[in-house]
Amino acid sequence: MAWAPEPRTLGYGFDDGPNCSHNAFYDYLSQKNQATTMFYIGSNVIDWPEEAQRAVSDGHEICVHTWSHRYMTAFTNEQVFAELWYTMQIIKLVTGLTPTCWRPPLGDVDDRVRFIAAQLNLETILWRYNSNDWENGIGGVTNATVEANYAALVQAANNGTFNTRGAIILAHELNNYTMSTAIENYPRLAAAFDYIVPMCVAQNKTYPYVETSVTMPTFSQYIATHKLHAGADTDSNEPPNKANAGNDDNTSSQLQ
Ligand SMILES: [Zn+2]
Repeated sequence: MAWAPEPRTLGYGFDDGPNCSHNAFYDYLSQKNQATTMFYIGSNVIDWPEEAQRAVSDGHEICVHTWSHRYMTAFTNEQVFAELWYTMQIIKLVTGLTPTCWRPPLGDVDDRVRFIAAQLNLETILWRYNSNDWENGIGGVTNATVEANYAALVQAANNGTFNTRGAIILAHELNNYTMSTAIENYPRLAAAFDYIVPMCVAQNKTYPYVETSVTMPTFSQYIATHKLHAGADTDSNEPPNKANAGNDDNTSSQLQ
């Protein structure tokens, strides 16, 4: 999947963690009461197991992002299986939970790889908007490029691009730059979208793991307790300013 089913909604997640070089990023998400989907690299989970445990206790969803972060379609069937299975095993060992979703590094996937993932009960999750944050400093990509990518997503949201279905963003926990950029842009995304949710919430997938010990809220349960701004609690797909333009008879209840 690459689009979020719910309108005016952003499917929010971060690839390439865990990265425990500091706690500021997870602290920020907690402070904002914002859950996300963390697509973890297996070898990083070995390096930073407590960060993975914190993600679960902070209410984030954990998905697989392979063991060694290579092009998956270049691997044999056995290698694809190993990349996914060993990552599932280390996440299980560290958190007690078996993920049911994965994202291919660099979006490199085909029907063969997708089939192997599906046999491991892993749903393939892609994206629709790429921040290109991980490429900052590479091949001519600069901080300004990344900011422009975030701005384009905000503008698309403001233009009504997501009034019938939501977006999924690709962003990274990779390093201090990508995490700082995510923090810096969060308020802009929160102003432009009505809802920012982890992927399982976007899908109303209340059991994100094989184990039933952890449940996640449905989309409507989540948005009832995670309001981004006034107006996000209306049941309208129209922007809040449109509701403001109506007369008082039928809009007053939406403006509370
Ligand atoms: Zn990645």
